[in-house]
Amino acid sequence: MKRVLGVYDAADPHWIGDGFPVVSLFSYQRHGARVSPFLQLDYAGPHEFAPAATPRGIAAHPHRGIETVTFCVQGGIAHRDSAGQGGLLLPGDVQWMTAGAGLLHEELHSPAFTQRGGTLEALQLWINLPAALKWTAPAYQPIAGANIPCIEIPGGRLRLVAGDCDAVRAPARPRTPMAVWELVLEGGEPFEWRMPEGWSALLVALHGAAALADGTRLGARQTAIFEREGNVVRIAAAPRLHALLLSGEPIDEALAGRGPFVMNTPAELEQAFADAAAGRFGRMPD
Ligand code: MN
Repeated sequence: MKRVLGVYDAADPHWIGDGFPVVSLFSYQRHGARVSPFLQLDYAGPHEFAPAATPRGIAAHPHRGIETVTFCVQGGIAHRDSAGQGGLLLPGDVQWMTAGAGLLHEELHSPAFTQRGGTLEALQLWINLPAALKWTAPAYQPIAGANIPCIEIPGGRLRLVAGDCDAVRAPARPRTPMAVWELVLEGGEPFEWRMPEGWSALLVALHGAAALADGTRLGARQTAIFEREGNVVRIAAAPRLHALLLSGEPIDEALAGRGPFVMNTPAELEQAFADAAAGRFGRMPD
């Protein structure tokens, strides 16, 4: 059984643009290599927005060296990037974006959500790319909620975004071995979370609470980080839990990250800021 290294509260509430009031559920700056290959998870809302004439959100900005995975829980998000791609995320949808060598993108409330207002709730997970893939071409995997398989388990269900479970295939194609699952437990049944030996594991409670087999308790907006040794996490009882289960093969490389860039060396990080200032991340479509 994997040992818990710690249970951590959400931190650093701040706005991303004028559209996403977020808290940081975990980050590589706070937790270091224990969260690798994951970098950070921002949780936006739930927040009520009044109807508006112009979409709120964050204007065009660059990323390099990472993947960003956006989950729309409530509301609607519209996305466009400098590679000419774009899309709409509705509740249940996920967007898996590989920034790789770099792109510009904007993330806004969808036109329909802007017009009618309402509750926005979303998550954005950042995943590291190993040095060999940091310069890969940008790519975009839109994953409709309807295409995310949902496995019935005792007392709840498991939604597979990335990483197969038993014989069920998840739709996302991650660049390194990992699993990104959503867990809902409603019946107080125990749940056994299995993964390959040596992987990092993070149990992120979004709503509700959980008790682990070793007695550790976890409440809403808390993250449990586990040691790499071992291959199973046991949830003893969770009368009501909505959680994200993140597990993956660690990428043990030096990190130099700030703002929207995560590279391996300070020189590469400075280059990213210089390239952004010089307009070398491309242009947004008109
Ligand atoms: Mn972004």
